Amino acid sequence: MTDKDSNDAQWRRKLSPEQYHVTREGGTEPAFTGCYWNHHEPGLYACVCCGAPLFSSTAKYDSGSGWPSYWQPVSADAVVESIDHSHGMTRVEVRCARCDAHLGHKFPDGPPPTGQRYCINSAALRFVPTADPQPSDE
Ligand code: FE
Repeated sequence: MTDKDSNDAQWRRKLSPEQYHVTREGGTEPAFTGCYWNHHEPGLYACVCCGAPLFSSTAKYDSGSGWPSYWQPVSADAVVESIDHSHGMTRVEVRCARCDAHLGHKFPDGPPPTGQRYCINSAALRFVPTADPQPSDE
């Protein structure tokens, strides 16, 4: 087996079929079907493949699109952006900088302060809640 085949087999074992399709094959989940488009708890959204932190709940907003939407990634180097010409459109594709998982696309119609909309598949994310504050001694 080549390294690529070996990697592919590992991803197939680790991921659900939908997670695999979205992240490793560049798929898109149907709108309003994922687990995070209507999710509002405080925490971090990590890459479902490698666990890298990608987006924070503090930059999440309701775009009405049916996909979790953020106006910026958790850091500029968390994601890699490239031009995607598939499906007869020119879009900016967003991938995990650590493991190259396909996450979604970026559109220039987001809210302030960035004006960007990171339109991300729930299937590419794993939510990590903010830890509860330590109980006080009082
Ligand atoms: Fe990743």
